[in-house]
Amino acid sequence: MNPYYTDYSEYLQRIFPGIKVQKISLNAGLSCPNRDGTLGTGGCTYCNNHTFNPDYCHSTPDISEQLRRGKEFFARKYPQMKYLAYFQAYTNTYGDRSRLMAMYREALEAEDVVGLIIGTRPDCMPDNLLSELAEINKQVPVIIEYGAETSHDHTLEAVNRHHTWYQVEDAVRRTHRAGISCGLHLICGLPGESIDDILTTTRRACQLPIDTLKFHQLQIVKGSTMARQTESGEMVVKTFEVDDYIDLCVEIVRLVPRSIAIERFVSQAPADLLIAPRWGLKNYQFTNLLHNRLKALTQ
Ligand code: SF4
Repeated sequence: MNPYYTDYSEYLQRIFPGIKVQKISLNAGLSCPNRDGTLGTGGCTYCNNHTFNPDYCHSTPDISEQLRRGKEFFARKYPQMKYLAYFQAYTNTYGDRSRLMAMYREALEAEDVVGLIIGTRPDCMPDNLLSELAEINKQVPVIIEYGAETSHDHTLEAVNRHHTWYQVEDAVRRTHRAGISCGLHLICGLPGESIDDILTTTRRACQLPIDTLKFHQLQIVKGSTMARQTESGEMVVKTFEVDDYIDLCVEIVRLVPRSIAIERFVSQAPADLLIAPRWGLKNYQFTNLLHNRLKALTQ
């Protein structure tokens, strides 16, 4: 057991006791209302969805095939592994409801897939879809991850999210009432935000009925609006240095109760896409540094 906070493996063990489970990221070829013109066309200023997709989902839109390739990749290490179909790229509850449901069911029909994780926007969870997901959740675990990013509406506006914190709260409460486990994704270091702003968001998130929190440092990636804005000098964005980010994560750990699992603190965009910050650390290496710091603080 992690002595400092509830980590994601502990959370998964609560849901799947005694079973080793691994997420398989899927790209269902969906769009996003912030890209297709419904809300906007440019997307969130930091977004380049290519950063989400591992190699096994680049070349085919076929969900079963992506799962097969993903399982092949992981089963080499651990043949008894079970899998969670993770609809990650873009907005995975956005589109025709019957097509979405068919897609989720197709994933669940794959051998050894024992649950669904669906990443989406908080303004893209209509009640009728939520009810259908609640029915699936009676058979196998369904987990919803909402991209919230920050609780500060002025920042949400500045990064072109086209939703508000109120919509995050509403989506989380409706999901909780439907009996479905849910979590929030937050970005630390969005333009104009101070450490206090980030910690305020963490506190607000912890007051909601969520099960997980997923943090990552702001990354400027090629192909994003933010990359263009910083390159042209239209915007100056200061990304975190490793030590400062560790200090922030220590404060986050202090705020997040044991009832909420922290899935991760960092993300790592592919090296060929990442502009800044270039820490040269793998996620596990960052986590080790953080744990060393937490350990030192308790001694
Ligand atoms: S971060 Fe999500 S909501 Fe924003 S543009 Fe990218 S896919 Fe759409």
